[in-house]
Amino acid sequence: MRRSEKSKDTKAKLAPKEKISYEKKIDPALTNYAVQSLTLLRKAEFLMSAPKLGLCVEDTGYEIAFAGRSNAGKSSAINTLTNQKQLARASKRPGRTQMINFFSLGNPDQRLVDLPGYGYAAVPEAMKIVWQKELENYLIHRQSLQGLVLLMDIRHPLQHFDLMMLEWAHSRHLFVHILLTKADKLNRGPANKVLLEIKQQLKKMKLDFSIQLFSSLNRIGLEELASVMGGRLNFTLAQEAEFDLDQIPEASELDEPDQI
Ligand code: GDP
Repeated sequence: MRRSEKSKDTKAKLAPKEKISYEKKIDPALTNYAVQSLTLLRKAEFLMSAPKLGLCVEDTGYEIAFAGRSNAGKSSAINTLTNQKQLARASKRPGRTQMINFFSLGNPDQRLVDLPGYGYAAVPEAMKIVWQKELENYLIHRQSLQGLVLLMDIRHPLQHFDLMMLEWAHSRHLFVHILLTKADKLNRGPANKVLLEIKQQLKKMKLDFSIQLFSSLNRIGLEELASVMGGRLNFTLAQEAEFDLDQIPEASELDEPDQI
């Protein structure tokens, strides 16, 4: 065999191997679980708002709390995840912006919690300190809390509030899933660079964490977030019986998220 023929032959042998390893990267079980989790997340219903830990819904079952500085994209993310345009608005009604807002996910023992936003300039300092104390109380003492989803605008990560939340989570060994939001604002290369940098910084803090890119605008990372939520909220195979996969709309059929 001539040299050029040999190299062609080697290439031909390599090609299918590359293809196989690419296919292996797609985990159909994970995708299926994400779709199933999305189905349950879309059953979200507003339960109640509480100004302090003592007035929260009964501390049973599982809950995941969403936190972020105001304007980080928290309401948009919750609306996208639950496919309900108005859901997170319930937390933005007058009087509720500084409350702990509870949503059931088809079962009152599996909840999504929308924590008060942070950074409302118009609020007096003394009031901010009271809210901060309530937030800390909730994060430290809530037994059903399985983890925190911390949202940070990819262009302004790890601000004072974010570090404070991470410290509280660390002190309680609470799992934190970080969303670098509005990922559509950066190209893929720079977005991945920020992802890597933040990951390295957080590793140094010895946190129990995971991190991903997210965009409510074009739904980057929606399945990944749904899988993490499902795992932490203990979405089980027993609940699978209720799933109707035909009811899941394709991404292109979904409404555009609110206010974007
Ligand atoms: P919250 O204060 O954290 O609840 O933030 P919102 O969800 O209200 O979003 C704040 C602003 O960011 C709004 O103008 C949204 O339209 C915008 N926004 C939210 N998510 C995204 C996103 O994924 N991409 C882009 N480009 N804008 C977003």
